[in-house]
Amino acid sequence: MDDDVFPQLPPPRPVDGCSVCRRYARSLALAERTRDASSAVDIRVLWRAHHAREHAGAPS
Ligand SMILES: [Zn+2]
Repeated sequence: MDDDVFPQLPPPRPVDGCSVCRRYARSLALAERTRDASSAVDIRVLWRAHHAREHAGAPS
């Protein structure tokens, strides 16, 4: 039940070889581990925007 603090969209997948994705993935993992929900939401929004811009057409 406690896991419902992150009900938002699933995060994008890190794209192989993309250092930006790798950084977002690490930041998101840290935010989730520390239960920092507002940071996790911010990271997902930024990461999805990065995905749309840099990896358009890649399955997410
Ligand atoms: Zn990327």
